[in-house]
Amino acid sequence: MDIRLENLSKTYGTVPALSPLSLTIEKGERVCLVGPSGCGKTTLVRLLLGLIEPTTGTITGLPEKVSAVFQENRLCPDFSLLTNVLLGDRKATKEAALELLLRLGLQEAARQKAATLSGGMARRAALARCLVREADLYLLDEPFSGLDEATKLAAMDTLRTYTKGKTVLLVTHDKREAAYLSCRTVTLTKPVVEKNL
Ligand code: ADP
Ligand code: MG
Repeated sequence: MDIRLENLSKTYGTVPALSPLSLTIEKGERVCLVGPSGCGKTTLVRLLLGLIEPTTGTITGLPEKVSAVFQENRLCPDFSLLTNVLLGDRKATKEAALELLLRLGLQEAARQKAATLSGGMARRAALARCLVREADLYLLDEPFSGLDEATKLAAMDTLRTYTKGKTVLLVTHDKREAAYLSCRTVTLTKPVVEKNL
């Protein structure tokens, strides 16, 4: 089923976080969400995840199985990297998690505590935790942030392989990522704050 957003918006008190948005994402489509900082990209991801309620509008057609990379890594610092990846899906096997770590260049860090990972490693760990879950919709909020060129390429390749045929919404600032993943680009504009003079 297609995902339909109709007149979807979010306001915090008087602060508009997402301007009214109507958008259809077809089943199996890849959409890149771009736009300046503060235009509501993360807000839209959070609305799709059901973490916050919209101020106006509706979302229909969301599949049951959704997996996400949040804007923050949200790793459990005292658990190993491997355990953190396995938390992505209780049905995930150790073999599947290790395969992902290998693809992302993290195999040697599998037993390392998440708290000791570098920024780039932790970002890739969050991506692995998302991809270990077999979902119908993948929501990825700047999943490659803080990665150097080589690790980013491996991460983009892995994402492309693991989400083949699935619906993907990727938040990014980088047009190359959109091109590499053959995404349709949707640009959000910053909500206008109305001032009472
Ligand atoms: P983006 O991800 O595009 O950078 P966000 O969705 O994080 O933007 O934020 C959009 C706007 O909403 C920003 O102005 C931000 O300050 C505001 N905002 C986001 N979350 C909250 C919140 N919980 N309370 C108040 N304002 C918020
Ligand atoms: Mg954001």
